[in-house]
Amino acid sequence: MIKDKAYWNFKKKQAKERIKEYKKVIFSSNTFFRISLTILFTAIFLVLFFACGGTLYFYDTIVVDEFRGQDFQIHAIDVEQGDSTLIKLPNNQTMLIDAGERDMGEHVTAYVKNFLDGEGLEKLDYLVLTHPDSDHIGGAIDVLENIEVDTVFRPKVYTQEEAENMSGQISVSTTSTYAELISLIDEKQCNEVFSDNSISFYAGGCLIEFLSPAEDYYSESNEFSAVIMLTYQTKKFLFMGDADQTIEQSLIDRYGDYLKADVLKVGHHGSNTSSSQQFLEVVDADYALLYSDSNKDLPSSDVLNRLHSMGSEILRTSNLGDYALSILNDEIAYATASTPTIDIALLISIYTLLVIITWGIREKHEYRVKKRRVPDKTLQE
Ligand SMILES: [Zn+2]
Repeated sequence: MIKDKAYWNFKKKQAKERIKEYKKVIFSSNTFFRISLTILFTAIFLVLFFACGGTLYFYDTIVVDEFRGQDFQIHAIDVEQGDSTLIKLPNNQTMLIDAGERDMGEHVTAYVKNFLDGEGLEKLDYLVLTHPDSDHIGGAIDVLENIEVDTVFRPKVYTQEEAENMSGQISVSTTSTYAELISLIDEKQCNEVFSDNSISFYAGGCLIEFLSPAEDYYSESNEFSAVIMLTYQTKKFLFMGDADQTIEQSLIDRYGDYLKADVLKVGHHGSNTSSSQQFLEVVDADYALLYSDSNKDLPSSDVLNRLHSMGSEILRTSNLGDYALSILNDEIAYATASTPTIDIALLISIYTLLVIITWGIREKHEYRVKKRRVPDKTLQE
């Protein structure tokens, strides 16, 4: 077919007419009004969404920011049945005690990164690997790969490669996770320090003391646990790792009443092999921090009963998710991560309602046409 001038003129005319029709539809007073209103509502909705902190929904990991800027903060990162505690020290240094299982590494890394960003900090000054169990050190691989770490405190448990050049009674871990972690520490050229009870130092007025391990060799992995006491202002915080009742007894023998603390990170996820009645009485903590998974057996009901009878308030990651503690006006305070769910739900409901009302309004003439049709219908019947 030859497309001559007449054909193109016809097409042009057709297109013009179509545009005219569209214009008529769009700019017919009601449609235009509706579109304008919808755009206005959408703009207001977006402004309020961001103002209410709606951006938090785009993050997988929300940092507990209740104490942002406070010089001393302790964050319990929920790693289910594992441990991971992030501490901001008063001299703006940071310490991470354990990092949960390997599959929790991503969450721990994201939490620490978001926390450091929020505080205007850049690195972890200290990473404590309490003992070689995977529920404490697995996630540290992810952390070391993504965050700068200055000093690593590690247990006197050696990899097979390290053990080759050593003699005497030593403890060796045969797990590939541990071997990978230790070689990563070397690769990243972190300062490597073996935990023992001679370590104590100040960080901006906060005293950090390693109370255990006291020996170079133990038969059980959990007994290597670095037990750490933090003292800041008038408050004391005792972190037990997975230390068992044998270690608790040796701590009582060596430190006695010095173990009295305001906050106790309960040993071994609340297992009955830790937290003896005598030990809990000596520590006499107001708050008991428990890392546990609601789908697993721990904490044991015996330990919970003992803690209840001591009057300790129990803070569990399985109930609270990630949570944080600080000292406000000489009192311990804690907070959980908050997302503005109610505000956002209300906002979305109002927005949807307004849009429905806008598009549901009948045009006046539509209404009249319908009304006129009614008598016709009756006539037909
Ligand atoms: Zn553990």
